[in-house]
Amino acid sequence: LIEVRGLEKSFGDHHVLRGVDFSAESGTVTALLGPSGSGKTTVLRSMNVLEMPDAGVVRIGEASIDFATRPDRRAVKALRARSGMVFQAHNLFPHKTVLGNLIEGPVQVQGRPTDEAVADARSLLEQVGLAGREDAYPAQLSGGQQQRVGIARALALRPEVLLLDEPTSALDPELVGEVLAVIRDLAAENWTLVIVTHEVRFARDVADQVLFLDEGVVAERGGPEVLTDPREERTQRFLARVL
Ligand code: ATP
Repeated sequence: LIEVRGLEKSFGDHHVLRGVDFSAESGTVTALLGPSGSGKTTVLRSMNVLEMPDAGVVRIGEASIDFATRPDRRAVKALRARSGMVFQAHNLFPHKTVLGNLIEGPVQVQGRPTDEAVADARSLLEQVGLAGREDAYPAQLSGGQQQRVGIARALALRPEVLLLDEPTSALDPELVGEVLAVIRDLAAENWTLVIVTHEVRFARDVADQVLFLDEGVVAERGGPEVLTDPREERTQRFLARVL
């Protein structure tokens, strides 16, 4: 379902991605780990063209862009439509209710009928454990609840792939578990997830594929065993620091 080949990105003279390659099957969870600054977030943002890669190919399902030439807006839109993005901080619309946040994209961007979007939103809220909270405003919710709304909002666009960028790193420790539980459920329901995370134990439990990124390349890849029995020295050093 997902293919990333030869992804390159520089910011000025800082060569951040130096040829990132990976692929992922439908219904699998890919965890991206690695030291701070290794390029994890940039990989994720490139997949959604929130960053414009300098080179490489990103394919999600039927949509594909070769960044060797600058893509036109239609191609970007087509690729973007296939993935939903969950950020570190949920960035919900503060002046809209939970329901308003969830139906905004489907109705305004995708042109879906409001009643259909509302029905969808209600079922997504149930899925993330927030049934009955549709009329609350973001400020009335805890950080963990807001982040769960953020996940529901990304899913409301019916993406093929959900991209999650350190979805728990901005949360107070006691709120991390409830968000991880929602992500675990999505994995169990065979959503295709790519998640940047520092939660090594969570990644070990949930991921089908682990990518260890270091200095802009995939330094090691494999199943969850990469996190218990890494072969590469730099993976070993990283895990020794964070575990
Ligand atoms: P972290 O775990 O700290 O979030 P990361 O592995 O996700 O790190 P990235 O956020 O992808 O790393 O950043 C990789 C490098 O690129 C960092 O050195 C960062 O400062 C730099 N960088 C990222 N975005 C930009 C930008 N928009 N402009 C300039 N430099 C950037």
